[in-house]
Amino acid sequence: MAAPKDGLEAVEAEGSAGLRGTSGIELVLPSGPAVPAPLCPHGPTLLFVKVTQGKEEARRFYACSACRDRKDCNFFQWEDEKLSGARLAAREAHNRRCQPPLSRRQCVERYLKFIELPLTQRKFCQRCQQLLLPDDWGQHSEHQVLGDVSITQLRKPSQLLYPLENKKTYAQYLFADRSCQFLVDLLSTLGFRRVLCVGTPRYSQFYMEDSFCHYNMFNHHFFDGKTALEVCRAFLQEDKGKGVIMVTDPPFGGLVEPLAVTFKKLIAMWKEGQSQDDSDKELPIFWIFPYFFESRICQFFPSFRMLDYQVDYDNHALYKHGKTGRKQSPVRIFTNIPLNKIILPTEEGYRFCSLCQRYVSLENQHCEHCNSCPSKDGRKWNHCFLCKKCVKPSWIHCSICNHCAVPDHSCQGPKDGCFICGELDHKRSACPNIATSKRANKAVRKQKQRKSNKMKMETTKGQSMNHTSATRRKKRRERAHQYLCS
Ligand code: ZN
Ligand code: ZN
Ligand code: ZN
Ligand code: ZN
Repeated sequence: MAAPKDGLEAVEAEGSAGLRGTSGIELVLPSGPAVPAPLCPHGPTLLFVKVTQGKEEARRFYACSACRDRKDCNFFQWEDEKLSGARLAAREAHNRRCQPPLSRRQCVERYLKFIELPLTQRKFCQRCQQLLLPDDWGQHSEHQVLGDVSITQLRKPSQLLYPLENKKTYAQYLFADRSCQFLVDLLSTLGFRRVLCVGTPRYSQFYMEDSFCHYNMFNHHFFDGKTALEVCRAFLQEDKGKGVIMVTDPPFGGLVEPLAVTFKKLIAMWKEGQSQDDSDKELPIFWIFPYFFESRICQFFPSFRMLDYQVDYDNHALYKHGKTGRKQSPVRIFTNIPLNKIILPTEEGYRFCSLCQRYVSLENQHCEHCNSCPSKDGRKWNHCFLCKKCVKPSWIHCSICNHCAVPDHSCQGPKDGCFICGELDHKRSACPNIATSKRANKAVRKQKQRKSNKMKMETTKGQSMNHTSATRRKKRRERAHQYLCS
């Protein structure tokens, strides 16, 4: 049995797929009572259908929700396929084998022991990316081990986990310091005290039960069941849901639809904790994603707007060198927070447009015809009077196609438009954005896959995040909590 020839690869390549009338793989969103989907190591799989020239194939299939690459998860099953008992048992065994070596409970227990050790005995194995207890030392004696791990270091796991990943040629995927600082400052300026981070890498060993869940953001699956879901619910609904924001930076190769479905479930969870008169309020969200997904994201979340702010990653494959030599990142923040409340740093090249009432890139000039600052990529765009909109500086108006396009396009181009950016003048395979997005996918796939499976509740400015449950904790645990959050 094999997946359709270009099946899963197409899912990966298409990223934002799903424009009607095009070809590719589309997610089948459940309508009516859902039949439970078969499980892969990443939780319930999703139902897909292959679409050719706008027509759906009759036979639909299940594939992994999180992995777009069969190398990462090769689950495949036709919707109508019946599996033998032996096959099902083998699959179950495989799913079990793929779970993390340590359970959440084991992680927490190890963590509690770890922080009670004197500083000189607190060691972290850089090869295995693991906090070590004295019993483990022997096994790691040949490995590079970091000693004297401080509580401050424990509170910044990304910096502990960083060195190993740095060794791989392409593996850096962390926000650059200035983007990190910008985000942290912004969250605190906006008055947020609690942050639900969806997509945090391998943090399980650093956080207590009330601040971390092993979670798959593509199918809203909590690996530790109802208890974990309740932790998330309590976090979102604490203080009647005030002061909380969700921040997420999903892998760029991921499909927008399942993410949107998931985020709507988290929004609904938050909303349950709201009183009736607040029913029109929305859970504040920062969704960090490339700008060419704007139309897809806004289709699912009409209240979302895109910030001009370019989220930088350290040495990321996403980077292109701009004319000024400054690296241009295609990654933006989508949010439902009113844009006039968000100040972008002028020292990084942003200015306030009083007409648009928002901060924009320096070169993003206000167009009086469009009545907006239209640039998406940070460069100056030009107004085309025939198209009645601003277009990228490299484009020219084509009288055959009757719209603006890159100069060397083929005029018999597809009318369906591009799966990636929605432009009409090229197909996905020729999308000027796909090179970026494909490179980015490759570069971040490995980390992001791990990353996509985690969720972390974090407090800003060191505020304790869960006062009510803290009182119920054993003394030892309270101390741990204090270490983390005070
Ligand atoms: Zn899978
Ligand atoms: Zn214009
Ligand atoms: Zn034009
Ligand atoms: Zn043309």
